[in-house]
Amino acid sequence: VSCFEIIKKDGKARRGRLHTPKGIINTPAFIPVGTQASVKALTPEEIKRTGTEIILSNTYHLYLRPGHEIIEKLGGLHRFMSWKGPILTDSGGFQVFSLAPLRTISEEGVTFRSHLDGSSHFLSPEKAMEIQASLGSDIAMVLDECPPYPCSKNSIAQSLRLTTRWAQRCKNHKTQQQMLYGIVQGGIYHDLRKESAQELIELNFDGYALGGLSVGESKEIQHEIVASATPLLPEEKPRYLMGIGELHDVVEAVSQGVDLFDCVIPTRNARNGALFTSQGKINIKREEFKEAPGPLDPECECEACTGYSRAYLRHLFISREILSMRLNTLHNLTFYQKFFSTIREAVEKGIFQSVRKKLTQHYPGESQ
Ligand SMILES: [Zn+2]
Repeated sequence: VSCFEIIKKDGKARRGRLHTPKGIINTPAFIPVGTQASVKALTPEEIKRTGTEIILSNTYHLYLRPGHEIIEKLGGLHRFMSWKGPILTDSGGFQVFSLAPLRTISEEGVTFRSHLDGSSHFLSPEKAMEIQASLGSDIAMVLDECPPYPCSKNSIAQSLRLTTRWAQRCKNHKTQQQMLYGIVQGGIYHDLRKESAQELIELNFDGYALGGLSVGESKEIQHEIVASATPLLPEEKPRYLMGIGELHDVVEAVSQGVDLFDCVIPTRNARNGALFTSQGKINIKREEFKEAPGPLDPECECEACTGYSRAYLRHLFISREILSMRLNTLHNLTFYQKFFSTIREAVEKGIFQSVRKKLTQHYPGESQ
């Protein structure tokens, strides 16, 4: 279904191309999150204009509402939301473990209640694959158990072994049309990460993700785990760091050989008025922008920056105008995609290692 080529390496950093039937994804790539089959506030045409090549949608949400069968009847997720490019779906596991009340986990799967209406549901590895097949995403993820943080080493070990058995069952249930990525768990324990990676590699997935990070551990530990776990993954397959998208962390992970990232940061921040600029992050609601005539970011070519003043964007935000969310989201996503294209260029030119500090000079990392 797909082929991943690495066209240049700079240290451990990789510049690649992931070929899918729906188009090419240039890596390192940023995947915006479209939770409810919508990247909030933008049309697919606008999403594309930000430089986005692939989006993520959440299986848990679409399964509960409107229901995967309805989406399948309407021609699958691409047609339903009118996004023609590649789509990655998660398995639903993460949301079940983070959103749904009253979960019960067994070898067979997980029983949970809907956070919407309290109805009872059962998600197994097979069911997660069936739902993702109905949605028709290009990249599907295995169902994994996501243990809370902190968690005892013994519990993490048991959890990752269950995740491996579930991964095998997902693989057995995979359709020919979809790529399937395994998810390495193991918490903050290097030896458990290694065990998880080795067992998943034996199952031969189309790509490998690092899961269970950015759940409350310190940045230092997060970077250590990414640094020790990424090199364990097969060189020739895409590597995906799930749910991490702070620019500082992205650069750190790219330098360890990560290819794919998804995160709600640019879109969620946009709706809260926190905007990324080439001079650092600003909050547009601040008094100092009340009469600011200049553009949000003179170096950005998006519609928000070329057409409007900071004063107008502040006014829209303060007045809670819908246009505020639209322009802010357009800008933040454009900024993020530009940032990733700068990373790709640097790796391609072989200067990533020498410019990486400069890339995040205005984004030193928000320590926890
Ligand atoms: Zn802009």
